[in-house]
Amino acid sequence: MAEAREHPALALVPWLALGAADVYLAYSFTAPPSTTRVLAELALVLVLGVVVRFGLPSFPGTATALPPLIPLFSLAATQTPRSLGAIPYLVGLLGMLGVVAVPLMKRRGVPWWLSASLAVAVTVGCYAAQGPLPLTQQIVADTTWPTQQPALPPPADAGPPVILITIDTLRADAARQMSSVQRLSERGAWWDAAISTSSWTLPALASIQTGVMPGEHGAGCLTGGHCQGVRDDVPTLAEQLAARGYTNVAIVANPWATAQNGMARGFHRYHPLGSVNPRRLLFIGNPLDTAHHQDAEVVLDLATDHLDALTARGGSFYLWVHLLDPHMPYLNAERPEYRSLTAEVVRSVGMLSAEDRQALRDAYDHEVAVLDRRLAAFLDEVERHGLFERAVVVLTADHGEEFWEHGGFEHGHSHHREVVQVPLVFTAPGVAPGRRDGLPSLLDVAPTVRAIAGLSADGQDLRRALPADRIVTSQGNLILWPGCSARDAGTAVLIDDCGADDERIRRYDLVADPGERAPLPVDGTHRVQWAAEDVVAPTRAEAAPQNTEALRALGYVQ
Ligand SMILES: [Zn+2]
Repeated sequence: MAEAREHPALALVPWLALGAADVYLAYSFTAPPSTTRVLAELALVLVLGVVVRFGLPSFPGTATALPPLIPLFSLAATQTPRSLGAIPYLVGLLGMLGVVAVPLMKRRGVPWWLSASLAVAVTVGCYAAQGPLPLTQQIVADTTWPTQQPALPPPADAGPPVILITIDTLRADAARQMSSVQRLSERGAWWDAAISTSSWTLPALASIQTGVMPGEHGAGCLTGGHCQGVRDDVPTLAEQLAARGYTNVAIVANPWATAQNGMARGFHRYHPLGSVNPRRLLFIGNPLDTAHHQDAEVVLDLATDHLDALTARGGSFYLWVHLLDPHMPYLNAERPEYRSLTAEVVRSVGMLSAEDRQALRDAYDHEVAVLDRRLAAFLDEVERHGLFERAVVVLTADHGEEFWEHGGFEHGHSHHREVVQVPLVFTAPGVAPGRRDGLPSLLDVAPTVRAIAGLSADGQDLRRALPADRIVTSQGNLILWPGCSARDAGTAVLIDDCGADDERIRRYDLVADPGERAPLPVDGTHRVQWAAEDVVAPTRAEAAPQNTEALRALGYVQ
């Protein structure tokens, strides 16, 4: 028999191929895992190969190359381009069943064709039970093979570099305590607070990237849980900058900020750290599970690598970094039981004691402080490259966070100031440092960047004074759409169920009642109320597949 003459070491070749593919994929998608981890992984794959090949002689299939090919297929299934659909997943599953089931049943006298048919039936059944898209496909729908990454455009001097730092769930009042925000404020224009266009991530980030309201860009979740991305006919800032000659890179740590939701459009490199496990090694642990992606250290390491590369090659670039640290779970919490706590769990507990509520707020503040230290190191890099003198650097947030100020917790459920007020500071060549008056909106970020880059602002350029009588609006809540609001300098009008026949409208005098505690009677004569009532919901579009695993980890879905 040919097998008898085979050198025993040859049997380990498929296992070595598995280890190489594993490490190659882990290295290619983002910054590499540590050398120690890679060496440990390779050693484990080899030990596994020796044990399977020589230690389990009676187990079916161990003498063939099939055992290492099965994890190789599942690796392919989790990293495959979407165009291949479910094929690698199905092949891996079928292979696994074939190796184990067919020989086992053969020993019991079942004809091979019957056990093979059963394996096919079980494979098809598993696929059908998973729905239209296998889970593994959903998790990695944003990932492309490294070799398929398009070449970067040639460097071009199209305008000042742009660095946009957005911080998930960062309240305006918490941001004011951050030394990194104060450092930017000393160099640029800043406001006490800007107003978000929504109470949660997807519509707010889409407004930052398009300069239009959720009713126009369409990204968000409608009543009934139908979630959709940015409408195809709405141009993004990245697309506009790319057309001008910018090279665009994004590193985003939030599972809503996906390519399916239109957020990657216009970016030449897009790292959706919140929704995939790009650096995952197959066997030894998972240096970057979904929660770990929150870690600013991971996100900013990758951002620093890109910043170095972009400045080294020269030309105009747009670097967007989205950090998730202040969002639950609080990974750096001093109390270990808080490190995996999601908002879903907190809400399910019901009434919390004042001490427990304060402990959660303290954990949030601690998370912001940890982020602040890490952000300082990134700003050092920005300074080292001389970018404060020649770049646009914007820092803002998608929304804030409520800690029972109005009875609720987290975000996505209310338009009170603790949720819609976000920090806003930006530096740019020619912009004098100092506090600015007026009420900016997240809508103003894209027009300001466009104008500085030499494009038509097509909106409010924040280098110009904001009109004193400006009204800004916010639209939508998480999952259940209704919720809209409008504000000017002195008034806020909130409607919880906008669009309903009998809307519940609350008006607050922000001068006498800045905490929005005592709603005033509404009589339909106030212009801020008219603006709130004019807010329109987005219309239904094709739903983008959502990464339910990652959203569950953050407590968005059960
Ligand atoms: Zn968010």
